[in-house]
Amino acid sequence: MSKPDPARWGFTTRTVHGDRLGGVEHGGIHKPMHTSVQYGYANAAELIGVFQGEIAGFNYARQGTPSVAALEACVNRMEDGRGTICFATGMAAIVAVFTTLLKAGDHLIASKFVFGNTNSVLGTLQGLGIRVSMVDATDAAEVAAAVTPQTRMVFVETVANPRTQVADLAGIGALCKARGLIYVVDNTVTSPWLFKPKAVGASLIINSLTKSIGGHGNALGGAVTDTGLFDWSTYPNIFEGYRKGNPAGWGLGQIKKKGLRDQGGSLSSEAAHKLSVGAETLGLRMDATSRNAQALAEMLEAHPAVRRVYYPGLASHAQHARARELFCGNSWLLAFELKDDADCLPFIDRLSLPIIATGLGDTRTLIIPVAHTIFWEMGAEKRAEMGIAESLIRVSVGIEDAQDILDDFTRALGGGSA
Ligand SMILES: *Cc1c(COP(=O)(O)O)cnc(C)c1O
Repeated sequence: MSKPDPARWGFTTRTVHGDRLGGVEHGGIHKPMHTSVQYGYANAAELIGVFQGEIAGFNYARQGTPSVAALEACVNRMEDGRGTICFATGMAAIVAVFTTLLKAGDHLIASKFVFGNTNSVLGTLQGLGIRVSMVDATDAAEVAAAVTPQTRMVFVETVANPRTQVADLAGIGALCKARGLIYVVDNTVTSPWLFKPKAVGASLIINSLTKSIGGHGNALGGAVTDTGLFDWSTYPNIFEGYRKGNPAGWGLGQIKKKGLRDQGGSLSSEAAHKLSVGAETLGLRMDATSRNAQALAEMLEAHPAVRRVYYPGLASHAQHARARELFCGNSWLLAFELKDDADCLPFIDRLSLPIIATGLGDTRTLIIPVAHTIFWEMGAEKRAEMGIAESLIRVSVGIEDAQDILDDFTRALGGGSA
């Protein structure tokens, strides 16, 4: 019998054996937490080689550590990328992509259904002279209609938080390819287990590692993956100094130097270690949370006290067919409205199992009233524009036993035995 070939192993096998196959010190199964900030070299020439990129190595932890590099390799394998850089948070990763690849006078097209803090960053960019159009990205024609000669980039989320709109991921991918635009896909909600943005032509993939990939609510982190599909050789915003070597590496090279190194949103080795351990069970957790969320969505939709449920796994969802075609599961994010709007907050207080908290993609079920918290700052008018009802409730479904979740929600809705 021939020896097993790691290159042909499945997603989870490669993830749990990745560090070991990379050669871990002392045969440890995990890459250790390297806490050093400085890395010393035998002579000046070696140090110079590392600084000038001729020799692979670490010099100062703001630009990476061996523990962070192990996580980057892990995420990169998961997304089938050409390269991945980790950041302290998902937001640090997003801000680095926007601010290092766009400049004043450029035009960015973004989905109008995006994570609240990302939405806030889009406002910051406008103040810096970058024009931003926010469009309904569930239809690629809306994106196409917004393209101008100054358009450089399109940014979308796979499944939008909190209303779960599914972007026209394939249609926008084809458009970006035809028009030579950088296509950035935030894959946080689906994760590389349920969806590979590279399959629809994404240039760059964002993952908030805090959510699906880390999964345990114990560490923040973010990642940018370059799929290798975008031709950086013709991109006008690559600084002269970074137009060296293989153009395939220019984009991520600039994000690393101008974003990670200069902006300093660097991941710690301690957080990288926790996120790496969490990543080992990504597939198991995403399957479990998708199953639980589907069961909860179906129960809620059938309940007389519920007005509407937003979950891509329901036949009633506007992009249900698209989600079925693109994703291997529908993830942990669902939202719903009660018929009695005034019962929104008392209902949440009647639940005993979910944690009343912000946050997503945790092993524990989390619940939050949307308009009063995460979308409070933007105001009622903008909420209405984004289709967010004042009584919308968001749930991030955890890995608990499904029956316990269903029982608790049923009791709180007033339809079950107490
Ligand atoms: C949470 C989240 C982010 C930001 O990630 P942090 O790690 O919390 O900074 C970005 N995009 C989406 C879709 C998210 O859910």
